Amino acid sequence: MKKKAFLDVSISICPRYKAPYADASWYAISLASNIDCGVCGNSWSPKKSQVDRLLLEFLLDKDGNVIDIKKKQIEDK
Ligand SMILES: [Zn+2]
Repeated sequence: MKKKAFLDVSISICPRYKAPYADASWYAISLASNIDCGVCGNSWSPKKSQVDRLLLEFLLDKDGNVIDIKKKQIEDK
C-alpha cells in the first residue's frame, strides 16, 4: 500500500487582466485572503473569482518522495 498526501487547490483568474492563479484552498477560500496579482498589481479576492477547485493526490514511495500526482474534482465551491 502506497502512502498518499493531498492538497486542496483553487484556480482563480485575476479580474483585471485575466491572469490565472492556483492557490491552496485553505488560504484562498477558507481564509478568503486577498491576493496581489503579480501581473497587474491588482489586489483581489480569489474566492469571488474562483473558477475551479480540485484535490491533488500525491502518491509517495516509502520514503515520502512523490511518484505520481492525480487530481480529483471537488464539487463544493
Ligand atoms: Zn492581474
